[in-house]
Amino acid sequence: MDVIKVGIVGMGKIARDQHLPAIHGNPAFSFAATVSPNDPGVAGIAHYKTLDALLADAPVVDAVALCTPPQVRYDLAVAALARGLHVFLEKPPGATLAEVAALEEAAAKTGATLFAGWHSRFAAGVAPAKAWLADKRIERVSIVWREDVRVWHPGQAWIWEPGGLGVFDPGINALSIATEILPNAFFLSSATLSTPANRAAPIAADLVFRDTTGALITMDLDWRQTGPQSWDVVVETDAGTLSLAKGGAVLTLPDGVQHADDEEYPGLYARFATLIRERRSEVDTRPLCLVADAYLRARRETVEAFED
Ligand code: NAP
Repeated sequence: MDVIKVGIVGMGKIARDQHLPAIHGNPAFSFAATVSPNDPGVAGIAHYKTLDALLADAPVVDAVALCTPPQVRYDLAVAALARGLHVFLEKPPGATLAEVAALEEAAAKTGATLFAGWHSRFAAGVAPAKAWLADKRIERVSIVWREDVRVWHPGQAWIWEPGGLGVFDPGINALSIATEILPNAFFLSSATLSTPANRAAPIAADLVFRDTTGALITMDLDWRQTGPQSWDVVVETDAGTLSLAKGGAVLTLPDGVQHADDEEYPGLYARFATLIRERRSEVDTRPLCLVADAYLRARRETVEAFED
């Protein structure tokens, strides 16, 4: 297959930190263009202020990676799919579930690949954790995702706006891991969302889920964590305890630790290339569905105003 010419739309933190090196490291792709309204782009690479300007210049790219905030992603994706471009959606795949379903239909019509990437699923411990859990009885699961929003999301106004998800922006990564590794479906029983008085999205959330066998899954999300940060999933089973730490990178099984420092984004781009080659789409909305259910079912509390 010919090399896939790919453009990045939204030259912010994740595009520069992860997408650029992953594209450069994968010979299936050539880096062909950037789109960003204010960012100047990359020396020597065609740059456009809008996706429409890039599309008017077609055929500059075969595929685009949409690395914008989720609130603007649908319009960009639908325009790219209408031109037959393959589309990689950063997580979360959209601001609503219905718009993601509409994108799946649009991709099916044109035959282009639509890939909703969940980067945490490509952390080194996730696939072996899934394999180990496949034949175990799940007794209890604890998810603790506590980080300092000032360190990880400085000045990102969009993250506090409707559709920006607040603390679920990192929390959905934990849900992408849990939905991948746990052998049974699970659903929300109760939740409390804590939202600063001056913001539209939660800074913390406590959630309780139940799986189809009745096992409890608790989830503690908090953006006010200073000092050591926690991105941990602990699964108690009939054969002992599995733990995934550092966002899925460090796996501990009852018989010892397996640790690998593999990066997540090379795996995402390898999957995107495979999907394009096989003319398939991959869109799993379960993590976003669980977040939407939290917004449907949760008790709300207002907490102290938050300033960046
Ligand atoms: P960010 O630093 O705020 O970057 C977002 C970029 O989107 C901005 O640079 C902005 O460009 C661009 N943009 C906004 N509207 C646009 C439009 N209509 N067309 C083209 N570009 C547009 O945010 P981020 O942290 O990279 O996050 C982006 C997405 O990646 C989010 O969904 C997030 O959940 C996900 N993600 C982030 C991380 C992380 O560690 N930060 C990790 C994994 C996934 P200008 O600068 O040109 O205005």
